[in-house]
Amino acid sequence: MMITKRLSLILLCLFALNVYSQDHEKTILKTFHSISSHDLLNDAAELTLPKYGGRLSGSPGYQAAAQWVADQLKQAGVKPGLNDGSYLQYFPNAYSDVLTPGSVTLLAGKNNAKKDYKFPDDYFPGSNSATGTVFGEIVYVGFGISAPELGYDDYKDIDIKGKILLMETGVPYTGNDSILQKWEKYSYHRYKFQRAKELGAAGLLYVGKVANPNTSYLEGFVYAHISEQVAEELLDGTNKKYAELSSAIKKSLQPNSFTLNKKVQISAKTKHFPDSRSCNVVGIIEGSDPKLKAEAIILGAHLDAVGSPGCLFPGALDNGSGSVDILAAARALAASEVKPARTVIFVFFGGEECGLYGSKKCVESPVWPKEKVLCMINLDMVGNGTGFHLSNGKSYPDLFRPFAEKNKKYLHRELNSSEYRINYGRPRTDAAVFDKAGYRTLSLWTSGTVKTVYYHHPLDNTDALTPEIMEDAAKLLYLGILDLASDETISAR
Ligand SMILES: [Zn+2]
Repeated sequence: MMITKRLSLILLCLFALNVYSQDHEKTILKTFHSISSHDLLNDAAELTLPKYGGRLSGSPGYQAAAQWVADQLKQAGVKPGLNDGSYLQYFPNAYSDVLTPGSVTLLAGKNNAKKDYKFPDDYFPGSNSATGTVFGEIVYVGFGISAPELGYDDYKDIDIKGKILLMETGVPYTGNDSILQKWEKYSYHRYKFQRAKELGAAGLLYVGKVANPNTSYLEGFVYAHISEQVAEELLDGTNKKYAELSSAIKKSLQPNSFTLNKKVQISAKTKHFPDSRSCNVVGIIEGSDPKLKAEAIILGAHLDAVGSPGCLFPGALDNGSGSVDILAAARALAASEVKPARTVIFVFFGGEECGLYGSKKCVESPVWPKEKVLCMINLDMVGNGTGFHLSNGKSYPDLFRPFAEKNKKYLHRELNSSEYRINYGRPRTDAAVFDKAGYRTLSLWTSGTVKTVYYHHPLDNTDALTPEIMEDAAKLLYLGILDLASDETISAR
């Protein structure tokens, strides 16, 4: 008799527990289903409006976009993330407005026949070019590096005074090991510009048509980014093929600089703002568990893009997509009846494209004690594809597990991961800045690209997005973070 009573009590408890967990799940799914691709696309359309000018960090357009995000967080009931009750965390951020597309003109042959290259098909104006017109003979200078301690000098035995340089980005060393560390300081565009200027170059044709504000503004130094096809064309009549040049230097680690016997003219019109500032937008949802709320999960995405160098570069995929995804996750977590047990902090970084200024500010002036941060999850380019990649998950299986489980149960997308790998080169994402500062990070991006990727390009607009994957990314974050926030088997280090 006694045994039967006890058994029925246990069964009753199990039944109650089951009803509870079913209700709990139903409550969570109610919010889950409220996340829609339609809303995400609308938000991405907002952030890519001309009034934000392509969200160049430091500019009034970026500032307006940051204010829009702060207003959205406030409306959603997400609290300001800074101690002074503000959503905006400021830092210095010089920038330049590119006022016209400028021009790039080749003069070649006996009669100096002119060829005008076209914007935006052939070239982009330099985001931090000086204003003016420069004209001179073209000199190919490889990677534009003088590294005596590495026995490498692209400028050895070549005069570049008053010349226009044709230069590669990056460094000739291709390994990812401690030797790359020695090359790191030479990989910055700013170093290359400075070096070219101090040796007397008049201007620069930088190979790779990628608008990039992560460069220096130098008085009188005019430059443009050209496509590889244009570089190939500039080498016509020499016995060299552009495509083979940089790979030969990389293979031999021997410079190969030479004069092209052709002239080029570059014009640019810009306005530089050396004393500007920019900001991160930071929101916070305090944890619901009295003990666990002392620990936080940081969810980050850069809000800034590359501005309007010659025309609007909308920055929809890079990184309107990540921004609207963490905004959707913030709205869902704030609206959810089931609250995250740990604290969740949302950071929309500024200054990423200018040199990771926003994430550097965030690790220098943390809004939450570092030792109480469980992990930082970064989103960059999460709006074009059919699957997900959540990097570092193989090194942090406890952090990865909730996302893998929720994906398997509710989203059924391909979800891959990878081991954490030290990067010996220069950090190129906000996540890398947190990695370097000793945080555990996961980075989410979309895989299985469906549409053409227009990286730092005028066509990176909302047509370049696949909204369904953005919806699923926000859903994955909502479910995964709820789980991660309440998991007592893991803790901040
Ligand atoms: Zn990006």
